[in-house]
Amino acid sequence: MAFSAPSPVASTSVDPLRCPLCGQSNQCAITAGLAPESCWCMGADIAPDALAAIPEAQRRQSCLCPRCAAGQFPGRAPATTTTTTAPRN
Ligand SMILES: [Zn+2]
Repeated sequence: MAFSAPSPVASTSVDPLRCPLCGQSNQCAITAGLAPESCWCMGADIAPDALAAIPEAQRRQSCLCPRCAAGQFPGRAPATTTTTTAPRN
């Protein structure tokens, strides 16, 4: 047996490039390979509501996107999205 690759910590697929609240690109400079100081979040005010809305599994895993960080994230209002595959018959 050869070396086995280090297993990922989380079994859920956390994409560090995407906002955990809306799934859009979070435009994080760090994930883009740029200096952390150049990231938009360094000068942004993150809405406390947005931080509180991040699922526990995705905290410290993914950055928010600028819009959600400003408090305009989808989960805040009553859900109108139809992302679930609901059977219609
Ligand atoms: Zn977002």
